[in-house]
Amino acid sequence: MIYRGLRYRLDPTADQARQFARFAGVVRLVFNLALEQRRDHWRTFRQVEGRPISFAAQCRELTLLRREYDFIREVTNTCQQQALRDLDAAFAAFFAGRARHPNPRRRGINDSFRFHGREIGVERLNRNWGRVRLPKIGWVRFRWTRAIEGKIKNVTISRDALGWHVSFDCAIEEAAMSLPRPEAVGIDRGVTRTLALSDGTFADMPMERLRLLDRRARKQARTLARCKRGSNRRLKARERLAATKAKAARIRKYFNHVQSRQIADAYGTVVVEDLATANMTRSARGTAEQPGRNVRAKAGLNRAILEQGWRQFATFLSYKLEANGGTLVSIPPAYTSQTCSACGSISKHHRKSQAVFSCADCCHAANADTNAAINILRAGTRPAVRESVAAPLTRESRCAA
Ligand SMILES: [Zn+2]
Repeated sequence: MIYRGLRYRLDPTADQARQFARFAGVVRLVFNLALEQRRDHWRTFRQVEGRPISFAAQCRELTLLRREYDFIREVTNTCQQQALRDLDAAFAAFFAGRARHPNPRRRGINDSFRFHGREIGVERLNRNWGRVRLPKIGWVRFRWTRAIEGKIKNVTISRDALGWHVSFDCAIEEAAMSLPRPEAVGIDRGVTRTLALSDGTFADMPMERLRLLDRRARKQARTLARCKRGSNRRLKARERLAATKAKAARIRKYFNHVQSRQIADAYGTVVVEDLATANMTRSARGTAEQPGRNVRAKAGLNRAILEQGWRQFATFLSYKLEANGGTLVSIPPAYTSQTCSACGSISKHHRKSQAVFSCADCCHAANADTNAAINILRAGTRPAVRESVAAPLTRESRCAA
């Protein structure tokens, strides 16, 4: 059984949006009250009850609280219990030394609440829209961007800078997964071509859009800095900046999901350069013959934008491969762009420009990024023994052929 979270953008009516805010507010209050109880009153509780505060004990107190206050009773019980469960898990992680002490949830940052899968219903309305039935709220429309797989365990409603979203946590049977594929591929990450595969194909992030959003975000950050603290204008400016950043993040995420899906479905073994040490500077040089003005600044910006996406891409690729029974191999990035993929000769003069690789030894010519991707593939799949035995082809034998 594998678990996957599928997220969709909700389209609530104004009334539903108000209810969402109310649900989120009450759930946050329950969480913060329970946190306060555990943090400040655990000693008293133990003296009176003879045992530490537990999830069950807090659920009983929630029942009393619901009896007393109408506005708490008006919000679905399971949402509140889920908050107590989250808190319980957070404290378990804290006491196990895996996490820091839980913090209070904050308005505008932790606007979310969660239902059980069995409490809700989902329907597809047409090609682009679906709807989800939530307790006490009713049917809410959402953008149907992909099929829902498996059995829905939990449903989370949450708000970010781009609005309300619904996320279904689904349990998927492993029997539905395909067999691992025998083929292997190497991937080179660069600035001009986002991804170059050893099979000769490329995939590019929409850099123009991302640069535009980056420029807008910088401008909005300057505006924000000028706004008076605590003012309404400042609040609005912060929301606008957050929305721009969220938009850029969504574009990167979409690209990473789509590309990692295609690669994980086509290949059983994928080789990439080691994330921590990946050398991006070599690709930022611009063309050798035509360095041009602004090339460095532009490349630097591209690099900054792309670097934000690498880790996510590797994460997506890794879990998608795992689900398919494939593997992700990472190799140290030394000389992958300076090595000739045909004869193995290493020289920085082989790379004639940003795009062109031309071996000075064996005349092999190729796209520079594809050439690097082939080297990456080889480094990740070559058995260590063969590596030491095989002699590289000589210059004469290759050029004569
Ligand atoms: Zn060569």
